[in-house]
Amino acid sequence: MKTTLKKTLLAALPLAGLLFLNAPASAHDDWQHERFHDQLGNLHEQEHENLGALHEEFHEHPYSRREHRRFHRWLNREHNDFHNDLYNEHQDYHGRDRYWDRR
Ligand SMILES: [Zn+2]
Ligand SMILES: [Zn+2]
Ligand SMILES: [Zn+2]
Repeated sequence: MKTTLKKTLLAALPLAGLLFLNAPASAHDDWQHERFHDQLGNLHEQEHENLGALHEEFHEHPYSRREHRRFHRWLNREHNDFHNDLYNEHQDYHGRDRYWDRR
């Protein structure tokens, strides 16, 4: 895989981490919770767009089948990792104020 592709994605990913830092540390209000969910949703959408764009970019180049397969495996792994991150952030959030048990 071309390293430029990797760089593009790696540059896009830390954005997610930065946004999470702004998530309220002790949010109890519903609207804050909803905003947090919105943020998660937006991040997820963004990530899908990033990965999708990378995928399209990849297909514009004449890579071999093997490289293509490898790229897809890598994409899936990135996507999975991202889902895990989102899930953990969400769990953290709910673990903090026990929303998890009530909803
Ligand atoms: Zn939630
Ligand atoms: Zn996803
Ligand atoms: Zn493909």
